[in-house]
Amino acid sequence: VAAIFIIIVLVGLVLLWRNRFTYVSVNPEYSSVGVYEPDEYEIAEDNVELLTEIGHGHFGKVFEGFAKQVVKGEKKTRVAVKTLHGNESVSKRMEFLKEASVMKAFNSHHVVRLLGVVSITKRPMVVMEFMSKGDLKTYLRSSRPDAEDHKEEPLTLQQKLQMCGEIADGMSYLSETKYVHRDLAARNCLVHDDLTVKIGDFGLTRDVYETDYYRIDSRGILPVRWMAPESLKDGVFDSRSDVWSYGVVLWEIATLAEQPYQGQQHDQVTRFVIDGGYMEKPKDCPKKLYDMMLMCWHYSPSMRPTFTEIVASLAQDLNDHFKQVSFFY
Ligand code: ADP
Repeated sequence: VAAIFIIIVLVGLVLLWRNRFTYVSVNPEYSSVGVYEPDEYEIAEDNVELLTEIGHGHFGKVFEGFAKQVVKGEKKTRVAVKTLHGNESVSKRMEFLKEASVMKAFNSHHVVRLLGVVSITKRPMVVMEFMSKGDLKTYLRSSRPDAEDHKEEPLTLQQKLQMCGEIADGMSYLSETKYVHRDLAARNCLVHDDLTVKIGDFGLTRDVYETDYYRIDSRGILPVRWMAPESLKDGVFDSRSDVWSYGVVLWEIATLAEQPYQGQQHDQVTRFVIDGGYMEKPKDCPKKLYDMMLMCWHYSPSMRPTFTEIVASLAQDLNDHFKQVSFFY
C-alpha cells in the first residue's frame, strides 16, 4: 500500500511539473502574430510632432501634427498621426503596424496615403496624409442645413456628385489592385480641406460609430446595413459586394448620413436584404442618383456595374449638368 501511495504521489508530482513547464513555455504574445520589419517607411520618432487630438480610433488616439521629411520637397508636412494606447501587448502592436501596412501597396489620389511609420520605439505611430475635415459621415451630418453647430456649409448637388465620383475612383483603383474593402461606408471615408474625399480606413473599425456594426454569432462584428445579400447569407465578399456597399454610401450622401434602414433592428435588416429588399428613394434625391443606387443593389452580383463603369457614368453626369470636365488626377 505504501509503495502504491508513493507511486501515486510521484506521478502527481511529475504531472504538476509538466503542466508548470508547459505554462511557462507558451507566451501568447508571440503566438502567430509574426514580426514587423522596419522598411523605407520608417521615420525617427523625433521627426514627428503631435499637436491636437482629432479623433479616437480602434487602437488609440489620432492626432493632428507635423512630420519632417515625409513628402519629397517638403521640410515639414501637416499630418495625421495614429497612436497606440500605452502598454499594449506585442500582438496588439503588431496588429496596429500591420493594419497600417496595408496602405503601403496603394498609390491613388482618392485613397489616403500612408506617409511614415515609427516602429522602433515603445510607442509606435502611423503617419498619414492629413484630412482636415475628418470622416465623411460626421462631415455630412454637420453640413445639414439644420445642424446645430453650423460648422459646414450645405453641399450643392454638384459637390455631392463630385464626392460620389471620387469615392468610386478610389474604389476602382482598389478593385484593380484586387483589394476587397469589406467595410466601405461614409464613416470610413475622409474629407480634405478642399472637400476631396478619399478612402481612408483599412481595418474593421467600430469605435466611433459602434451602432453601425452587429455581431453575427461566430462570424464576428459586421456592418450589416452596408452588406450585400450574398455577404449576409454566405459570407461572400468581393469587389461586387463592395459595389453594393458603395450604393449605401450614395444613399448616405443623398440623405446627409441618415442611418440606413432606420427603425429596423439589425436582424430585421439582414432578413429584409436577404429576401430581396432595398431602400426607397430618399427625399429630394435626383432620379439619376437613385437609379445608380438601384444598379448597385442588383440582387445578382454580376448584374451590378463595376467601379470603373460607375466612375464613367458619374463623370458623364457631371459633364452634362455642370460642364465639369472630370474628377481624375
Ligand atoms: P482606426 O482605424 O484606428 O479605428 P480611424 O481611422 O477610424 O481609426 O480614426 C478615428 C478618427 O480619427 C476618424 O474618425 C477621423 O475623425 C480621425 N482621422 C483618422 N485618420 C485621419 C486622417 N488621415 N486625417 C484626419 N483625421 C483622421
